Amino acid sequence: LYGHPVVATGVCHTDWEYLFETGKGMKFRPFPLVLGHEAAGIVESTGPEVTRFSPGDKVIPLFLPYCGECERCLSPKTNHCKKNWTNMQAGVLADGTSRISCKGQQVYQFLGVSSFSQYTVVPDTSVAKIRSDAPLDKVCLLGCGVSTGYGAAINAGKVEKDSSCAVFGLGAVGLAAVMGCKVAMARRIIGVDINPDKFEKARQFGATDCINPRDYIKPIQEVVVEKTGGGVDYALECVGSPAIMNAAFESTRDAWGTCVIAGWTETEVMSISVEKLLMGRTLKGTYFGGWKSVKDVPKLVDDYMNHKLKLDEFITEKLPLVQINKAFDLLKSGKSIRTVVSLQDS
Ligand code: NAD
Ligand code: ZN
Ligand code: ZN
Repeated sequence: LYGHPVVATGVCHTDWEYLFETGKGMKFRPFPLVLGHEAAGIVESTGPEVTRFSPGDKVIPLFLPYCGECERCLSPKTNHCKKNWTNMQAGVLADGTSRISCKGQQVYQFLGVSSFSQYTVVPDTSVAKIRSDAPLDKVCLLGCGVSTGYGAAINAGKVEKDSSCAVFGLGAVGLAAVMGCKVAMARRIIGVDINPDKFEKARQFGATDCINPRDYIKPIQEVVVEKTGGGVDYALECVGSPAIMNAAFESTRDAWGTCVIAGWTETEVMSISVEKLLMGRTLKGTYFGGWKSVKDVPKLVDDYMNHKLKLDEFITEKLPLVQINKAFDLLKSGKSIRTVVSLQDS
């Protein structure tokens, strides 16, 4: 365990969902808690048994651990390491407490990170050491949204060259999915969003067509199927709504279409046509884009530094922590892609 100053943090839709949708789409979690889980910072100090980190190291804290030793970490089939999982979901560290309190009351830690704070304490299995020349106010986005969407296309979907894709929801996760499809050299990438303000950016990221479900009377899956002569090879859901998950699934081609769910909901149920599944489609979900967090995030930082992966283009606003509520307003009104909140100059 160690403490480190958080330098910058993105504001993700999941932060908003925990704040306002607990008991609706989200399971109950203990409050009060410090939100924020898409961050980068510098190690301030380390605990006695920590050997892989030293004060001054640049790091990205991770809501998904990677212990490197368990059956899951050793398997190429999954990134779901369960180290400290139960405690992390309960908002505490391995010893059952959090290091955050206010006026003597326990304050819980969000997803093991809590980056809307100048300092946080995290286990060494939930933090990636990154290169010293990486700009923290950009690479923080690799702590969640960009890695998730990009990996949804690359790792979960395994999007192929010359394929056709549809991305539902063009927030940071969806734009990163578009970027993944483009890197995989998809021939056609259809962006779907009810907010047409997102289309210009989606085209910059590689979308070849952009469609707004509100412009059509018929269901959007029928529009996609018609436009592509039978459906897309890959559909990526980046909204978090069961109805859109179903639309994404039904947008895929029979025989081999794959639908990847990246959008988040914990308590809602999705219904699908069994017949469409039987006709050869695949439906799968992804957590953190399938990346093995501690091991893969430094490589994504390298990809950004080598101009293979965009990050700057996701950032639409920079604000100090005191204006965090403005960041939430921008996210909810659809005016931002990502606001990066600076923790050190507020
Ligand atoms: P965001 O709010 O920035 O983007 C969501 C987009 O969906 C917006 O552009 C919005 O206009 C669009 N949208 C809303 N309703 C729609 C509809 N009916 N049809 C088409 N588009 C619609 O959110 P984000 O930060 O990009 O996150 C997207 C989702 O991914 C959220 O559910 C979030 O919780 C989830 N998420 C999942 C993981 C994971 O590990 N699987 C990680 C991060 C985020
Ligand atoms: Zn997130
Ligand atoms: Zn593990």
